Amino acid sequence: MLVRNIQEIRGSANRMSALQSVSGKSHAAGPESHDVVVVGAGFAGMYMLHRLRGIGASVRVYEQGGDVGGTWYWNRYPGARCDVESMQYSYSFSDELQQEWNWSERYAPQPEILKYANHVADRFNLRPDIQLGTRVDRASFDESANTWSVTTSDGKTVTAKYVVLATGCLSNARTPDIKGLADFGGKVYHTGHWPHEPVDFSGLRVGVIGTGSSAIQSVPVIAEQASHLTVFQRTANFSIPARNAALTAKERQSWKADYAEIRRKARETRNGIVQEMPDRGALDDGDNERRARYESRWARGGVTFMGAYNNLVLDRAANDTAADFVREKIAEIVNDPKTAKLLQPNNHPIGSKRICVDSDYFVTFNRPNVTLVDIKSSPIEEILPNTVRTGAGDYEVDALVLATGFDAMTGSVAKIDISGRNGQTMNQKWAEGPRTYLGLMSAGFPNLFIITGPGSPSVLSNMIVSIEQHVDWITDCIAYMRGRDLGTMEANRQAEDGWVAHVNEVAHGTLYPQANSWYMGANIPGKPRIFMPYIGGVGTYRQICDDVAAKGYEGFTMTSRRARAATKRSASASSL
Ligand SMILES: Cc1cc2nc3c(=O)[nH]c(=O)nc-3n(C[C@H](O)[C@H](O)[C@H](O)COP(=O)(O)OP(=O)(O)OC[C@H]3O[C@@H](n4cnc5c(N)ncnc54)[C@H](O)[C@@H]3O)c2cc1C
Repeated sequence: MLVRNIQEIRGSANRMSALQSVSGKSHAAGPESHDVVVVGAGFAGMYMLHRLRGIGASVRVYEQGGDVGGTWYWNRYPGARCDVESMQYSYSFSDELQQEWNWSERYAPQPEILKYANHVADRFNLRPDIQLGTRVDRASFDESANTWSVTTSDGKTVTAKYVVLATGCLSNARTPDIKGLADFGGKVYHTGHWPHEPVDFSGLRVGVIGTGSSAIQSVPVIAEQASHLTVFQRTANFSIPARNAALTAKERQSWKADYAEIRRKARETRNGIVQEMPDRGALDDGDNERRARYESRWARGGVTFMGAYNNLVLDRAANDTAADFVREKIAEIVNDPKTAKLLQPNNHPIGSKRICVDSDYFVTFNRPNVTLVDIKSSPIEEILPNTVRTGAGDYEVDALVLATGFDAMTGSVAKIDISGRNGQTMNQKWAEGPRTYLGLMSAGFPNLFIITGPGSPSVLSNMIVSIEQHVDWITDCIAYMRGRDLGTMEANRQAEDGWVAHVNEVAHGTLYPQANSWYMGANIPGKPRIFMPYIGGVGTYRQICDDVAAKGYEGFTMTSRRARAATKRSASASSL
């Protein structure tokens, strides 16, 4: 309780200083001004605000949603839950927080994760600096003042020295362009934009379009309610059973007792998840030994299946052994051989697309009220008021669920009209694919940071680990600049080119680019095919970022505020 009070007092003190700083600046004629504008109030935006307050910065967070939580605010579909275990998929920055919060299940369901996000917002008194229901539409850099002008959906413009995009990698839900969709007679839901009120599918014929992670989680739950469920599949995906279960007090306690060490280790791993990682490859074991290892990982459940051997994403022959094992499991679970065959992924290496984690997905296709439709061989031609028409036939449905994913990694950035130096927009610069240095900044856009941006481990990791690393790095960087009275920081083109080349080189040393995945932008028609996240590993990447900072932010150019002011003065003098 005492700790909490201290936190609250600190929170209000920081807020007061923030307000003073804001109001101080606002007295002068001109728009409202902040040190930092943060876009988005998911886990990234909330922690960013908390850390920036800690260094005395004035911060305004804009969130287009009606509350905090980001992903967990929007994705309320039936069966939604995390697929990294909750004891690891949670903030580590406050020991009090991680000790006091009790996750109920191994993989917490969406409502519980959203409750956690709200708890964090209240516990650290974040809400006063978060403006909800407000979208950032535009951000433009004023080269003469070295500030950003940020325009929001309420028609206001504020200025800020720094802008942090905490807009999320999976926050721009993608609706497919299907003829007739707008004229469908029943309700259409998108998993990434699910209504807040309960949706009851009882007695309805439901169609689910898509078979990625969100479909794999929601199909078993919808099948229990719907009179009939038709699943429209373009690409079969690999999925591992979650083996979700309630967490006992004893289990929670054993994590908590060792939290400091577990979190430290997570930061040094490849994907931000602490797990047993063998030091040998799949082909180093004989058939029986290998099968036993896969069986044990399958029985344990979860994404750590891919950690059965250290070369599963590197060596195709090794990968095939794991893929064959999962395909066999699907054939064992699904009664109808034709359906089983359709559900067996065969066009990408296992793990090269985001591996899914399910509760009873494959067995759901044994239910008499569930039909699987292959839209790869016979694509959807059009949607009529109560029918989905494919090349192979008509399927009557009363409601449609679009589990069609996101314009990942760049979609939410692209929706903001961002213009940097010389009026160049981010969309122009990224037309051939995103270009960043370290995934944190893009040359030509000074003082604009991206959290878990393209070129960083982001979606290939336990994202809260990656979010905390980026937020800490950005905070240290802003504190460094404030301490030295620096005006701008900007990625150098050469450093950026080198980093983009490195990200590509590392990716192409693995099996990942062999899949048409959203990591490659392949789910969005016309999006450039560039492998976006950095595969080098969370621990390696952290080391690189720390080294860059230790070398005085190598690869970035920083300009002094005074130098800028002097340049400005002489420029205006000469123009007189
Ligand atoms: C169903 C699902 C399950 C997932 N499970 C896991 C998991 O188990 N483990 C894992 O590591 N990751 C998981 N993820 C990834 C997840 O997105 C991240 O873990 C994390 O929640 C991202 O936090 P964030 O704050 O970076 O982004 P988000 O949570 O996406 O928040 C970004 C926020 O920015 C807001 N925003 C965007 N643009 C604007 C704008 N222009 N103006 C104002 N606001 C804006 C959005 O509304 C959103 O609320 C999952 C994702 C999904 C969709």
